[in-house]
Amino acid sequence: MSDCIFCKIANHEIEGDYVYEDDLVCAFRDANPEAPVHVLVVPKAHYVNLGEDVPDEVLAALGRAVREVARRTGVDKSGFRVISNAGADADQVVQHLHVHVLGGEFLGKGLL
Ligand code: 5GP
Ligand code: ZN
Repeated sequence: MSDCIFCKIANHEIEGDYVYEDDLVCAFRDANPEAPVHVLVVPKAHYVNLGEDVPDEVLAALGRAVREVARRTGVDKSGFRVISNAGADADQVVQHLHVHVLGGEFLGKGLL
């Protein structure tokens, strides 16, 4: 997707503040963080959201990347939240599958 911002960041056409990367996915800090740790984990290939037929190997890579992001940012110890907005009712803004990893402070239930 030539006009997709997350495709560009995931494939280094635009540089992001990367936290983790492998062959299938990458993770970078959100431009407008809602918590001290706010990282987006995205597949390098373009899928709109988790409602699509995302291949199992990509789903597994996303899960491994979430765990690695939690470890690298230290929130594996203090706690963290994982959210993926999919579609209109979730108010998904960027139409490239992404998983938010949030932490670094007490989150309460506001972002549930
Ligand atoms: P959504 O509402 O689609 O789940 O979340 C989109 C997220 O992407 C928001 O948290 C927003 O701050 C973030 N975002 C939007 N554009 C950019 C960008 O160009 N770079 C980065 N790093 N984050 C972005
Ligand atoms: Zn994309």
